[in-house]
Amino acid sequence: MFKKILIANRGEIALRIQRACREMDIKSVVVYSEADREAKYVKLADEAVCIGPAASTHSYLNMPAIIATAEVTDAEAIHPGYGFLSENANFAERVERSGFVFIGPSPDNIRTMGDKVAAKQAMLKAGVPCVPGSDGALSDDPKEIIKQARAIGYPVIIKAAGGGGGRGMRVVHTEAALINAVQTTRAEAGAAFGNPAVYMEKFLEQPRHIEIQILADTHKNAVWLGERDCSMQRRHQKIIEEAPAPGIPRRVIERIGDRCAAACKKMGYRGAGTFEFLFENGEFFFIEMNTRVQVEHPVTEMVTGIDIVQMQIRVAAGEKLPFTQRNIQLRGHAIECRINAEDPYKFTPSPGRITLWHPPGGPGVRVDSHAYTNYYVPPHYDSMIGKVIVHGDTRNQALARMRTALSETVVEGIHTNIPLHRELMTDAKFIEGGTTIHYLEDWLSAHRR
Ligand code: ADP
Repeated sequence: MFKKILIANRGEIALRIQRACREMDIKSVVVYSEADREAKYVKLADEAVCIGPAASTHSYLNMPAIIATAEVTDAEAIHPGYGFLSENANFAERVERSGFVFIGPSPDNIRTMGDKVAAKQAMLKAGVPCVPGSDGALSDDPKEIIKQARAIGYPVIIKAAGGGGGRGMRVVHTEAALINAVQTTRAEAGAAFGNPAVYMEKFLEQPRHIEIQILADTHKNAVWLGERDCSMQRRHQKIIEEAPAPGIPRRVIERIGDRCAAACKKMGYRGAGTFEFLFENGEFFFIEMNTRVQVEHPVTEMVTGIDIVQMQIRVAAGEKLPFTQRNIQLRGHAIECRINAEDPYKFTPSPGRITLWHPPGGPGVRVDSHAYTNYYVPPHYDSMIGKVIVHGDTRNQALARMRTALSETVVEGIHTNIPLHRELMTDAKFIEGGTTIHYLEDWLSAHRR
């Protein structure tokens, strides 16, 4: 096992990885920007190195600075967390070339999955069902594009091959709007992702977002750890996640889970990963794979009892997965609410000093957050300041626990989306379960204030 790991991230996930290291008796090196100097996990780290100013391009995305820090601190491996460099194949390659272990899949696998066109092709080959769409990237020929859209049937969605974070997508309802939409998305994709390739998919009207968590080692073992329902989204960004997905028969989930594990074996995948699907009328349609740990991994940890971050570290060190598919059992129900520093209804970011931080507790309650009283939320990064996760024997118990947990939570000095979560936890349709990806946006427009 490694003796020392460098954590190339910030915020709650830096603390989460640090906790895994401490439990495993591994020393942690934290890199931080000038804006994160005060953070608790920076003070708790065995070693902490400032690698640049607040702007992430000069700090958390600064590959030479991160690799140099690994060198001077004698770290053996680098955990990239999520976001930042976690899905950057060039970074993974540079880490490996510099003699360190990248805690994640091979650069090749990251590259394939980072190109959504290539990813879909790989999935089709591996027998994973995909959203019906164009055969690869769209050509420049308007006639050809129109023909493809007719074959798929309107509405269609134009998506950037290199897109991510819910950006670089455009829904098209009529042929008249098609070519313009393709051109605009192409231009945006070129500017934002450095890759102008776009593709077309059938736009599913009322799907749910269901994803499968997988773990694979370097000894040809791959398992899936159940599913998560992440349909509660605003602007394609998840805010509530749960496991298991309410109302979907186990055999339907098992069929797709087994496909995902088989695809991992076929790809020679290692580490943690997530297959994201849209689920409509009882069918799964692959949309993309994330080759890293996800924000919502705790709900899976709560229902499986498996520490996903520790498993990432173990398989990166060459260990075998300590379980097979048959050993994996789901117990109860877990729900996560992402706590964002933002206005709960207008969504304007609300950075600043937290004057009082009182997290909830009690049976089945977990809080993953780097925040504390007097912590200053910097304005430079993502607005998520933590996650409240609950576990119960049933979904109803989990819902009751989340309501209790949120009623105890006090954050003063900044605005958070806790009031929104409190309302959603008492919403009849959400309580019923099985809402689609449009539910939250519709709810927000109906409850506009
Ligand atoms: P990103 O990498 O930017 O997150 P995804 O491909 O995962 O992009 O899509 C993000 C979200 O966009 C999905 O969760 C879903 O809400 C919506 N979406 C993507 N593709 C489709 C589609 N074919 N039909 C309907 N909604 C879609």
